[in-house]
Amino acid sequence: MTQPHFLSLGIKRKKICQLLFLVIPTILGFVITLALIHFFLFNEDKKNLYSDLDKMNLESQALYNEVMSALSSAKLDDNQLCSSDNLKKMRTALWKDKYIKDIAHIKNNQIICSASWGILKDPISLPKEAKKLTKNFKHWKNIPDPFTKKTNINMISIDHTLISIKKNLVNKYYYKIDHNNNIAFELKTFNYIFRHYGSTSPNVLIEAKTGMTLTSMTEKECSDNNQCIIIQNNKMGLLGLSDSNLLIAMIVSIISGLTLSYILFLSRTRHKSLLQHLKRAITNGDIYLEYQPKLCLRTFQVTGVEALARWHDKTFGKVSPDVFIGLAEKHDLMEKLSHLVVHRALQDMSPIMKKYPDISLSINLSMKDISQGQILCFINEQAERHQIAHDRVIFEVTERTNDGVDLIEGPVAEFTKTGYKISLDDFGTGYANLSWLSKIQPHEIKVDKIFTQSIGTESINQNMLNAIFLMLQKLDATVVFEGIETQEQLDYLTSLSSEAMGQGWLFARPMKTNQLENYLQTKKAKNKCHSERIAKGSLSTTRLSN
Ligand code: C2E
Ligand code: MG
Ligand code: MG
Repeated sequence: MTQPHFLSLGIKRKKICQLLFLVIPTILGFVITLALIHFFLFNEDKKNLYSDLDKMNLESQALYNEVMSALSSAKLDDNQLCSSDNLKKMRTALWKDKYIKDIAHIKNNQIICSASWGILKDPISLPKEAKKLTKNFKHWKNIPDPFTKKTNINMISIDHTLISIKKNLVNKYYYKIDHNNNIAFELKTFNYIFRHYGSTSPNVLIEAKTGMTLTSMTEKECSDNNQCIIIQNNKMGLLGLSDSNLLIAMIVSIISGLTLSYILFLSRTRHKSLLQHLKRAITNGDIYLEYQPKLCLRTFQVTGVEALARWHDKTFGKVSPDVFIGLAEKHDLMEKLSHLVVHRALQDMSPIMKKYPDISLSINLSMKDISQGQILCFINEQAERHQIAHDRVIFEVTERTNDGVDLIEGPVAEFTKTGYKISLDDFGTGYANLSWLSKIQPHEIKVDKIFTQSIGTESINQNMLNAIFLMLQKLDATVVFEGIETQEQLDYLTSLSSEAMGQGWLFARPMKTNQLENYLQTKKAKNKCHSERIAKGSLSTTRLSN
């Protein structure tokens, strides 16, 4: 049988979506990893560039100083040109020099003597200079050594003194530059380039603005005597990698993209199957309840219990209510779940409430449950069946969104008209606490545990707790502090109010009904003891004794 057209279209679309869910995270992971590698390498290149620039600048500065001292050694005061005194001074200067190869004198464009060669029998004619910087200042670039003709050197002449310079300035960097044709550098004075290395043409480098782009960087450092070093790397980060290293970076990025895609795939399938398991658990009634006592902070008398849903799945283990309630809310399962909770809570607590007539039962409901209103009939029916008075049941609501604030007023009024009490849960953390307060006028307000747990810390929440409490005092509602875990928190809260209620691990954790019965039994005896002591005035501050 062939499928209808719209059905096969739907399947096709689903398959495309599934494919996109795999492809998009892979590409995203690939791009992000590659970008991170580039960023890391770029930073390393940047550090190297700055350090090379500093080192080159130091070297060029040292060369400048040597040239200056060579010039002053060759100066003719009382000395004659190429006299033995003159040559001696030049030799002494040359001996210490690191960059200068020889100091010589020139006459009529010929070298007549030098510190290394002494007075020349046959003067050597100078080749044509590369640049005449001033009338008396000339420069030769990369010419064969006039004395040996073996190696290439650079020379400068000022007046009658000629200085030949070894090519070892920034020698260490030549190596790097020769092997890495991304880097170029230049040593220049004003606009005259003494040295230029690298693939970039000198003009490009001179005109290059300092700064960086995504793939290149140019930096310049000038000394007081106008010697400048410009250095440029035009293949930073990934672009500067060798082919084999680039391949490794690509492979790592592909693996990271695939891993991201796989993790998302796993979490989606887990989410999907968690949802399936939750649906089954609700249908099979596998959600059970635990009960956490709520006490009067002054007398420690138990005034009620809160029913808290629990789910222990065979595959996923214990799933937190924050997870499965959130999932149920998102996938429209709350109605079924809340029916189950109401049914269980009233059934479980009916015998206990008969035995302890002062105890109330709090049940958490979602806003949707209340605003849709159908659950009220079911609650009435169950309350009647288990013979529980309406005013002993409190429904706790949390404002998770701002959407329903106008819609909730009427349905809540229906609940209160029927005799049930309403509690505003997790006060201080939701969306519209104050507007909710004015709309639903709750019987009880439960201040969220984040405020209780801020007591004794530097957190701003503690100041907010004081402010919240001052405000709540003005309302006609019972205040319950959630999440009391320590004696310090209890002391602080009792100092705020003697009328408040509290709930927390300091008193009791959520428990099953049989444990609750034992707890209430022992508590009754203790309360009696406490009230006696209070009556005798022996208990000045409230302190929890186990
Ligand atoms: P909630 O209604 O504010 O419940 C109080 C939560 O604080 C419970 O977490 C409780 O176990 C925990 N708690 C109590 N005392 C302490 C304490 O001293 N320290 C700390 N750290 N925690 C404490 P639980 O059971 O995990 O429930 C989480 C939330 O899930 C509940 O917050 C409620 O909003 C929701 N929930 C639980 N059961 C139901 C239910 O049957 N229906 C609905 N709609 N929501 C439920
Ligand atoms: Mg609650
Ligand atoms: Mg709460």
